[in-house]
Amino acid sequence: MRRRDVNDADRVLTVLTPGDGKVELIAKGVRKTTSRKAGHLELFAHAALLVAQGRTWDIITEAQTVESFRHLRENLDAIAAASYVCELVDSFAESDDEVRPLWDLALFALRTLDESAERDQAPANLLAWFDLQLLSLTGFQPQLFRCLDCEKTLEPTTNFLALHEGGVLCAQCAARRTDVEALDVDTLKLLRFFQSQPWAAVAPVTVRAAILRRVESVINRYLIVILERQVRSTLFLRRLAAISHPAEA
Ligand SMILES: [Zn+2]
Repeated sequence: MRRRDVNDADRVLTVLTPGDGKVELIAKGVRKTTSRKAGHLELFAHAALLVAQGRTWDIITEAQTVESFRHLRENLDAIAAASYVCELVDSFAESDDEVRPLWDLALFALRTLDESAERDQAPANLLAWFDLQLLSLTGFQPQLFRCLDCEKTLEPTTNFLALHEGGVLCAQCAARRTDVEALDVDTLKLLRFFQSQPWAAVAPVTVRAAILRRVESVINRYLIVILERQVRSTLFLRRLAAISHPAEA
């Protein structure tokens, strides 16, 4: 998902694994022109790795490409979309965690981008669909079917978005509030559709550009709310740890 150069010729890779979650591994000598591993350790690729225990980082001893996603790499829009997919997965994935469904989703998104790039197409709905699937898998699924306050089924009319609470309010409950925004019925329907349907049902649907932009705007702002909260709580926990164990901080 990510990589950075260390030492003279080494590289530290952030890798998503199905069984151990997000791990950092070192590829030694991989920046030398003679490295046989280099070609098998590209970003946005699916590879089989053999890893030995190391002191700071575990060490990649063998690497074999499983899927290179060659077409994706030749298309700038697909590269941008793949970077987005990997950054978001990187932000949500934890270490030492069984993340098989997230790993499957990330791989599926890269595969879909690669297949589309091969046909010189852009899968218009893919990133919005991917975002909502990822939110569901990581426990941040927005509530789009029932009012957050009164829990009544939302009517097909203008409802109200409460991003900081992770869902939608009915008109009656929203009337008492100032921190909500109107959500039109087309945008709500599309959000629900992307959240609840598999890609096979979502891919062939042509969505008007204006509605897709509204859906993407809602999702992006919701992601920012969640990620800021995560970052803040991490800092908060670190600060707490520093106070209770000053020697280790
Ligand atoms: Zn309500």
